[in-house]
Amino acid sequence: MKQMGITIVGGGLVGALLATMLGRRGYKVTVFEKRPDMRRNKMSAGRSINLALAKRGIAALKQAELFDDVESLLTPMAGRMLHPLGQDLEFSPYGQRPHEVIYSVSRGFLNERMLTAAEDSDNVRFHFNCECTAVDLENQTVTLKNHSTGDTWEHRYKVLIGTDGANSEVRDAVVARGGGTWRTDWLDHDYKELTIPAGPKATYLIEENALHIWPRHGYMLIALPNLDGSFTVTLFLQKNGTPSFEHLTDRQTVEQFFSEQFPDAAELIPNLGDDFFENPTGVLGTVRCTKWTDGGVACLLGDAAHAIVPFHGQGMNAGFEDCSVLMHLLEEHDLDWPSTLLEFERLRRPNADAIADMALENYVTMRDSVLDPRFQLKKQLGFQLEQKFPTQFIPRYSMVTFHTIPYAETLHRGQLQDKILEELIGAHDDLNHIDWSLASSLIADRLPKLTTL
Ligand SMILES: Cc1cc2nc3c(=O)[nH]c(=O)nc-3n(C[C@H](O)[C@H](O)[C@H](O)COP(=O)(O)OP(=O)(O)OC[C@H]3O[C@@H](n4cnc5c(N)ncnc54)[C@H](O)[C@@H]3O)c2cc1C
Repeated sequence: MKQMGITIVGGGLVGALLATMLGRRGYKVTVFEKRPDMRRNKMSAGRSINLALAKRGIAALKQAELFDDVESLLTPMAGRMLHPLGQDLEFSPYGQRPHEVIYSVSRGFLNERMLTAAEDSDNVRFHFNCECTAVDLENQTVTLKNHSTGDTWEHRYKVLIGTDGANSEVRDAVVARGGGTWRTDWLDHDYKELTIPAGPKATYLIEENALHIWPRHGYMLIALPNLDGSFTVTLFLQKNGTPSFEHLTDRQTVEQFFSEQFPDAAELIPNLGDDFFENPTGVLGTVRCTKWTDGGVACLLGDAAHAIVPFHGQGMNAGFEDCSVLMHLLEEHDLDWPSTLLEFERLRRPNADAIADMALENYVTMRDSVLDPRFQLKKQLGFQLEQKFPTQFIPRYSMVTFHTIPYAETLHRGQLQDKILEELIGAHDDLNHIDWSLASSLIADRLPKLTTL
């Protein structure tokens, strides 16, 4: 049983991590990836150039004994550097302990390291340029097309894992046979990636250890550092209306929009006009899928099961946590795949729903609330309560980012905590009058015991 073969469709971030974990556990793993091998063919790594890695992703990389391999790729970001229009920069830390930082990492470099680590286990074989074009769950076969040779063939599987991303082919089959449903809730905002190049001798032209945000209420620009001194900049903006992508139709309009709305950033993006029209405009959506498994022998993980909008920086982290949970369950279930997969879906779906909702909410936080004095006051009080009651009150952002408390529990607890913050602050606009004994009793009475810390 231990040497049973596993078939994975999709060798992106989640597929490569799962292949590494399974290969190291002794399983023979075959991965079909429709794109060429990114280690040999330099290409855009797909959606978004760099990503924020946080505790959940790191925990999974450590479990796969991969963290030491990727640590040198990481740039710590200790907080948000806000660029309000016409005002001074403002730094807002994410956490309050030295290790409470998130890390910027190149999607391409990370994926490459994981492909190599998976192959090093000697149990994992990647087939690049091989697209899965159909899945027959009844006969346990997938149809593959090799884009280099033009060959098409059928591959028989014992266990099939779909990590083929937001447009998953495997998902279509699993949902159709299981009588479930899936849909993508598209956001009416798109995104565009641009670059702030490095300064002389690979220096950073803006603060290196921060995630920069230019919040503009209905839209925003963000920038994450890369190892070479550059920053990947992303504009999130409505599709239609004013302002919107619909109106940014020529270089002059784009340059004027940037110099009016993001003047300090505009000065640092030399190829703004060219980049804007050369780089694709990306769409954003939430995949809501009610069926992840088929008969205990096929299962969806990562974006295939639960693609989310990127505003909490958790899509990859959640996908990595999927791998971690699946591997723990496999051990708990004595390597019995059918019961493991069913339990995985049961445990994981409510958590995927919760992070999907929190990611949508966080768009408003990033582009708007961060500038609101009441939001800042609540954040300050949240930190003070965490200092006084560290095992009971943890700010929601910290629960998502610096802990592995299940997302559903985080969402629920965050709602209860928000009410406590509102009640303690009341109509005041400072924290001088906080009644700490009331705080203590509200926390004791209303917050359930944490399941994991
Ligand atoms: C703008 C943006 C910013 C983001 N920022 C963050 C962030 O800061 N932090 C974070 O945690 N997450 C972030 N995410 C989310 C993150 O990118 C995804 O959650 C993550 O890539 C999911 O990994 P995956 O392996 O499930 O899917 P993908 O990365 O999409 O990989 C799927 C793989 O399957 C292959 N494939 C697809 N179809 C087939 C087929 N039919 N046959 C064979 N192979 C196939 C694809 O080529 C690809 O390699 C961001 C997303 C976006 C769009």
